[in-house]
Amino acid sequence: MADDVDYDLIVIGAGGAGMAGAIWAAEAGCKVIILEAEDRIGGSTALSDGVFNAADTSLQHKLGLTDSIDDYYDYYMTLNAWRQPAALIRRFCDEATPTLEWLMSIGVAYPERIAHKPKQPVFPGSVEGGGLYSAGVEWPPRGHCPAEGGSVYIDAMENRRAVLGVELVLNTRVRQLIVEDGAVKGVEVEGQTLRSHAVLLACGGIANGPKEMIRAWFPDAYDTLPPGYHPRFGSAVGSRGDGVTMAQQAGAHIIGKNCGLAVSGPFLPNAPEGFHGYQPTSVIYVNGRGQRFAPETAPYAVMPGLIKEQGFKVWGVFDEGGRLRADPTRSGFARGWDPQFVLDCVANGDIIVADTIEALAGKCGMRPGALRVTVDQFNEDIAGGQDRWFMRSMEELFPIEQGPFYAFRHVNGGFTLTGVGPRIDPDAHALDEDGRVIPGLFAAGEAGAGVLGERYVGGGNSVANAITMGRVAGMTVGRELKGANS
Ligand SMILES: Cc1cc2nc3c(=O)[nH]c(=O)nc-3n(C[C@H](O)[C@H](O)[C@H](O)COP(=O)(O)OP(=O)(O)OC[C@H]3O[C@@H](n4cnc5c(N)ncnc54)[C@H](O)[C@@H]3O)c2cc1C
Repeated sequence: MADDVDYDLIVIGAGGAGMAGAIWAAEAGCKVIILEAEDRIGGSTALSDGVFNAADTSLQHKLGLTDSIDDYYDYYMTLNAWRQPAALIRRFCDEATPTLEWLMSIGVAYPERIAHKPKQPVFPGSVEGGGLYSAGVEWPPRGHCPAEGGSVYIDAMENRRAVLGVELVLNTRVRQLIVEDGAVKGVEVEGQTLRSHAVLLACGGIANGPKEMIRAWFPDAYDTLPPGYHPRFGSAVGSRGDGVTMAQQAGAHIIGKNCGLAVSGPFLPNAPEGFHGYQPTSVIYVNGRGQRFAPETAPYAVMPGLIKEQGFKVWGVFDEGGRLRADPTRSGFARGWDPQFVLDCVANGDIIVADTIEALAGKCGMRPGALRVTVDQFNEDIAGGQDRWFMRSMEELFPIEQGPFYAFRHVNGGFTLTGVGPRIDPDAHALDEDGRVIPGLFAAGEAGAGVLGERYVGGGNSVANAITMGRVAGMTVGRELKGANS
């Protein structure tokens, strides 16, 4: 191999995927540099709750749970209706476990306990205090949740990077690959040419990218909202879609339409910045007809797909009793739903109010008779202790009976993570439009497409994807350039 290169591997982005890729290539003896656009490392990985999905792990064993990678793979494929490429998902499931064990070996810790999610209407997030929990609809639980959130991964990997002496440059946004004869040979950045044998796109997702890119690749995030509204993005500011544009320069096949997660939540465009908190517990979610379509406590990983299937027309309905009982302190947030907040939302038009259920249905364009039946059945089921349609736990619920009645739009507007980018193979090579490996180009995490599907498999899907496939990319580069057999 010619030696006229500055680096074996240039890694673009110092989030979960990039840090892991750089470290594993360096462990194999490669000369690596990481270029990070922002003034700090970590990306969305550092902002995240840090839940990491994996099966057959030492933490599961310690807690007396039996699991298998075969079951994880079946679960993953089933939830995604077998739309994701089987060999890639198998590789991901196989490698997630050693990746998690490696993270623990470099300092990441998980509380040794089985934790439980609060039984609330869709509430994205991890579990307080961390531990192992059922982060999707799986059993045994596979969501490994550190008590301190995702920054623990970045801290642990940063320590390892420093020990290995991997170069890291901040405030350097890469936008141009060097492509020669169909192969990627480095990057052009800030007037400099850096040549390398390989480049790893680890620059995150598109959630904060140009509107046109989001509309083209994640129309669901827009289609759920009334016209004129832009989805709220929760991911790190660096998730600008640069991985997509750079991969296109190398002729990559871009895939992943609607893959990722736009979390569902109330559509309250006039709510103050940073607004959060539990909705009234006795809220029901109904579709455009006025009928319930799922248990309101369905996992946040699943709810966006269910809302899509209702044509994105979903309302949350509650009554005056629910308003008066609303208490933001239950969720530990300073601000949230309280009785005055609901009245403020009525005043600014975010919440619709009416004296009767039928009138509320009329204002929201539902069938008044259908909403009446829905509410009557819900109230009867609370009295009977059994949800006849969706088997939601009826504990601590109150009937919807005291006017006035309230409704808000419930939408998939919290744009959290995406899986749009170059199609990758099980070794994290980027592929061209014809399905051939593009020499020298790798992609992982949100920037590499194929692992994250339209159906998020649960909390931990994306951090696991980032660090696992970043590690896989680093191992592949080590193997191909240095003959390492990790
Ligand atoms: C609030 C929140 C909570 C979450 N909680 C969880 C969770 O508990 N479990 C889970 O599985 N997922 C969670 N996610 C999603 C998950 O954190 C991310 O999908 C995942 O960590 C992405 O990792 P990544 O390495 O692909 O990207 P990132 O970690 O975002 O790293 C990408 C890096 O690339 C840099 N970059 C971008 N463009 C360039 C460029 N052109 N040049 C140089 N650098 C560039 C960015 O600045 C960034 O540092 C959460 C997301 C958010 C926002």
